[in-house]
Parts: sequence; structure tokens; C-alpha cells
Amino acid sequence: RQTKSTTIARENIQVMVRCRPPSETELRNHEEDCWLLTPEQGSVKLNDPDGIVFEYDKVFKGTNNGDIYQAGIQKLVRSTMDGYNGTVFAYGQTASGKTYTMVIQNQDTYTWNRLTRSHVHLFIVDLAYFCCTSEEPGVIPKAVQDVFAYIEEEAIDREFLLQVSYMEIYNEKINDLLSAKHSPTGLLIRTANGQDYVENLTAIAVTTPEEVMAFIKLGEERRHTGETDFNENSSRSHTIFQLIIESKSRVSSLASVRTSRLNLIDLAGSEKVATNTERRQEGAFINKSLLTLGKVITHLNAGAKHIPYRDSKLTRILSASLSGNDRVSVICTINPAWKSKDESTNTLRFAQGVK
Ligand code: ADP
Ligand code: MG
Repeated sequence: RQTKSTTIARENIQVMVRCRPPSETELRNHEEDCWLLTPEQGSVKLNDPDGIVFEYDKVFKGTNNGDIYQAGIQKLVRSTMDGYNGTVFAYGQTASGKTYTMVIQNQDTYTWNRLTRSHVHLFIVDLAYFCCTSEEPGVIPKAVQDVFAYIEEEAIDREFLLQVSYMEIYNEKINDLLSAKHSPTGLLIRTANGQDYVENLTAIAVTTPEEVMAFIKLGEERRHTGETDFNENSSRSHTIFQLIIESKSRVSSLASVRTSRLNLIDLAGSEKVATNTERRQEGAFINKSLLTLGKVITHLNAGAKHIPYRDSKLTRILSASLSGNDRVSVICTINPAWKSKDESTNTLRFAQGVK
């Protein structure tokens, strides 16, 4: 691994846009054709004679998660096995397809969430279903499968230790999703040797993809749910899945341990919400962290001296993974409806701004 610099090479940042297919309601209301996507050109245009054209590394429509993984994410995941840090963000309005892209096609997590703890022993059983029988696993299950396959099939001369962490940031409070202990104040960010880290965050050693997915599932259960429905609340928090990858050569006993991180992040909904006071406060935190994230990536791209990591918890937590040769993919999701035109435009602008 080369010495750290703050400039992130442009080719190490990839920005993709994905427009989900219309829902039945959107089809019924004939409002499903707001955006024209041209995958060959990586462009998105407002479906209007003088609509502006946005350009990205890649654009996607349709239901296929495999395309996205192969086009942009697989390479990033492979780099993490070579010692680089890699981070994937799903950014977009609520219901635009962030979780679909990151997790799975049929969003069974929501159903699992309603199951009680006494079902825990059954989880291992359903897990086969979660990782293997779904036709459209998203980025997280695919990346996990890929990492294990790589270790088994290709990296035979190295020995690996993999650990997982799973946390959410809700109202600027960090919750450890792999810990049964509830901390009212949330976890704190500390700094050691100039590096920020989350104090007392659980990291569990894992040896199979099934185990990883089981922990994610347990973590899902512990997410902030409030009184109203899970779906709505889940869109108000950022979820950060981390795979910590340590490896060392099996042949040379003197070789040092190489450590890298793979961060897979389902961001809070990017829409502006301001109804009641609590929601307004959440909205302010979300806007601030998404804005800071955008700024951090733009500054890295521009080779700025000062990177504003410290302006939000999200970027502080990720600061160690966002510099030098690290890899970043931003998947921005939009929906095809005219009624979301303004929010989608904001997302498209964010996507353009980070590269
Ligand atoms: P978000 O996480 O951004 O709030 P979701 O991932 O929950 O959005 O997606 C909202 C709804 O749209 C879900 O019912 C999901 O299954 C569906 N959906 C999202 N993206 C796609 C896609 N690319 N293909 C098919 N269905 C999708
Ligand atoms: Mg979601």
C-alpha cells in the first residue's frame, strides 16, 4: 500500500445512477416516464424537449442487481482484498431503490424485522434462502459471497481474518447493531494516532458468508424503529456495514499484516422532510451529513488540502477509508415518477457534483 495522500484519483471514484421500474400506482397514474436513460452513453435526460442531460460513469434501469455489481462494484470489492479500502454508498430519495440495490430484491428484511427473538434459531435456516435462492441479491450479499470465494479460490497464498461490524447513525447517534447492550447516548468517536474510530464498536470474526448474513439479519432487528412503521424510520438513518479484512502471507513469516475495510452504506433518504419537530431535527442531521459527504468526496477529487471530515459523524467514521488510493462508488437512485421530479433532480445534481 502506498503512502496516503488526500487526493483520490478520479478513476477511483465511480458514480452510477439507477432508475427503478415504475410501481403499479405510478403506472396507473401514467406518471412513470419522467427520465430517459441511455446506458450506452451513461446519460439521463429529463423527458421534456429541452430537458437537461446529466452524464455519469454508468446508468442503469430495470431490476437486475447483478449488472450493477459487475459493472462497478466487483472491482472495488476485489481491491479491498488487495489492501485498499472500498466504500459503496446508496444515495437517493426514500423508495427510490437504495435498499433494493444494497440488500435484496424481495425486501424480506422488513418481514424478518417483525419476527421475535425466539425465532433466532430459525434464522440460520432461512439464511440459505436469503443468500442463495434469491434471484437478485444486492450489493451486500454479492460482495460477501465474492470475498469468501476469492479467499478460497484465488488468494491461496494468504491467510485471512474477516470481521464484521454493523451500525446505524440515527439523529447523529451511533447505534451498534451487533450489540445487545443498548447505549442511550450511542457510541462515541475517538481519535488515536490521527485516525478516527468508533469506540467499543462490536467486530465479530466470521468464517462463512452465511454467518455474515446472519449477523446482518440480527442487526436489522435492532434498528431504530420508533413507534411508527419500520419502513419509514429506516429511511431516516444511515446504515453502515463494514467488513474488516486482515491478511498476511502464508509463505513469508516476516510479511506484515495488511488491513483494509469494505464499507457498504445504505444512506438515509435524501428528501427534504419537515412536518413535525422530531422529523425536522432528523431532517437537519440528514441534510448536514449528506451535504458533508458530498463535500468530502468533491474535495478529495479536487485534491484539496483540508477535507471537512469532521463536519458529520458519517464522514468521521469513514475518514480512514476515504483517502489516497481508496475506492469509492456512489450509486444514486431515482424513481421514474413526475411527482418526484424535483427530488430526483437534486439526486442527479448530487451525483454530478461528486465527480
Ligand atoms: P429505499 O431503500 O430507497 O427507500 P427501496 O429499496 O425500499 O427504496 O425500494 C422501494 C420499492 O421499490 C420496494 O418495493 C422495492 O422492491 C422496489 N424497487 C426498488 N428498486 C427496484 C428495482 N431496481 N427493480 C424492481 N423493484 C425495485
Ligand atoms: Mg431503504
